[in-house]
Amino acid sequence: MDLAKTLYHYFKQHKELFGSQIFLQNSLLDTPDLDQTLGKLKESKLEKYRISICLCEDCNLHKTRKNFVFGAGDSDAELMLIGEAPGETEDLEGNPFVGRSGKLLDKILSAISRKRDNGVYITNILKCRPPGNRNPLQTEISKCKPYLLQQINIVKPKIILVLGSIAGNALLNNNLSIKNMRRKTYIFEGTPLKVTYHPAALLRNPDLKKPAWEDFKWVRDFIEGIKDGRSK
Ligand code: URA
Repeated sequence: MDLAKTLYHYFKQHKELFGSQIFLQNSLLDTPDLDQTLGKLKESKLEKYRISICLCEDCNLHKTRKNFVFGAGDSDAELMLIGEAPGETEDLEGNPFVGRSGKLLDKILSAISRKRDNGVYITNILKCRPPGNRNPLQTEISKCKPYLLQQINIVKPKIILVLGSIAGNALLNNNLSIKNMRRKTYIFEGTPLKVTYHPAALLRNPDLKKPAWEDFKWVRDFIEGIKDGRSK
């Protein structure tokens, strides 16, 4: 990121966090890397937000959850991955995509030279596990979606990759098939957004690995393109 852009984002975040009064702590002045400072600001903003919502009881899922699964990864990520809802392992551990699907996701990320805590932030449409991993209900999606919008607003990723048709339909308010959604690049609240297959679908049907891999490579090239000043 060039210095002017970095300063712009830094002061914008600063204003959002502390209001229009500018005060610089010594620790901020001493920080040589403004990108790092911006990352820290986002991290603390996300953590404050997590604390403010993690006891949510707005839908019935709080009655059966073991953990509220907020999201995890790099707060200053270029890529945000959005799944459907925590499964059993995620509910037990309080982290997204840590079960079988998550292991496959880690492998795909590593193939595009990324890790979940380096340039990637992962979360879900729902923050609590639907019992028996049933599909999310519309009422649950409506209650939980504002949390996701706020996470996107804090992280400000360069691109969002949505995993699976259920998450795609929930976010884009449509009922299109995954094949249909995959073909397009959407703009969601100002951020480019692609939809690809859910890793669980790849585990069930290995034939889907190839098209999913094409999508991840597209995302990788998109981010690289921004860095090189070729796109956006
Ligand atoms: N499936 C999802 O959609 N999200 C998770 O966190 C785990 C599995």
